[in-house]
Amino acid sequence: MSESVHEVVIFGSGPAGHTAALYTSRANMEPIVFEGVQPGGQLTITTDVDNFPGFPEGIMGPELMEAMKAQTTRFGTEYSYETVESVDLSQWPFAFKAGQKEGFAKSMIIATGAVAKYLGLPNEHRLKGYGVSACATCDGFFYKDQVVAVVGGGDSAAEEATFLTKFASKVYLLVRRSELRASKIMQERVFNNDKVEVLWNTEVDDVLGDKDVTGIKIRNNKSGEVKDLACTGFFLAIGHTPNSAAFKEWVDTDEVGYIVCTPDSTTTKVPGVFAAGDVKDSVYRQAVTAAGSGCMAALEAERWLEAKGYQSLPRREGFESL
Ligand code: NDP
Repeated sequence: MSESVHEVVIFGSGPAGHTAALYTSRANMEPIVFEGVQPGGQLTITTDVDNFPGFPEGIMGPELMEAMKAQTTRFGTEYSYETVESVDLSQWPFAFKAGQKEGFAKSMIIATGAVAKYLGLPNEHRLKGYGVSACATCDGFFYKDQVVAVVGGGDSAAEEATFLTKFASKVYLLVRRSELRASKIMQERVFNNDKVEVLWNTEVDDVLGDKDVTGIKIRNNKSGEVKDLACTGFFLAIGHTPNSAAFKEWVDTDEVGYIVCTPDSTTTKVPGVFAAGDVKDSVYRQAVTAAGSGCMAALEAERWLEAKGYQSLPRREGFESL
């Protein structure tokens, strides 16, 4: 078991974690990134990414994350496959345990992301990226003039159903109760949109299709009627779970578990500990916004350490030209 004191440790390797690593490595802070259970984050389970700037033809999610990692590695970022299990923020340098590694860090950036909730249907996982999606903003464009279904009854579901009508010819909104949880204004948008048909008291039993989604099996939980509904896209909008469990004892979280930061910043209530990306963002949840907040966290960590008297490390051999 190795123990060492790092200038900065970054937990998570999605766009927020990689961008934080890029900035801190270029500031000679020699970051170590603990990649977590899903190295590369949520984009590694999507296919085409058309909304990350700089890629006129789009780019595959896994390819984008590989490119980010290669870019930060170029500046000396160290990566570890371990997942953070616990931290002790009552002492400084802060202590952490990640798999077989224990160590100390003068600053921490939490970029552990969030996971979209899925229904756990038999064929749901197999068809992820082939018609099953948890991000209408990312994938809606691919459903021009097609029929799609959205499951959920909250603001996300209402927003995604409305958004999808820009592309799809028809959007079914599948709601398990006889009312929406979404705010009144979002409900009005749904009800006033001719392309959206709400199916009340409707639950999904499975997703259909060999290679791509061809439909879903739905059940009316009042009448018991079961039928197949033809669609080529199936969008989940039943909420996200932020990966904040390891930090909850120390930083503030909201009722869902999102880490609470000072507005317009990434600072948590613990000085020297910063949060970036989807673990602190329930609103935008985009790769580009996550990357932006990763940059903010890196700059804030660097400035915080400077204020504490931290001096940039001398440039290491091989990095003189950076
Ligand atoms: P919510 O937790 O608010 O809603 C989840 C929805 O999914 C509920 O309608 C719930 O049904 C339904 N659901 C949960 N599990 C299942 C299941 N197994 N089967 C079927 N349906 C299920 O999550 P959201 O992502 O919608 O919103 C999260 C937060 O973000 C909220 O505070 C929301 O206001 C906010 N938000 C704001 C937006 C905006 O202002 N533009 C846009 C998006 C989100 P039930 O109602 O029966 O529990």
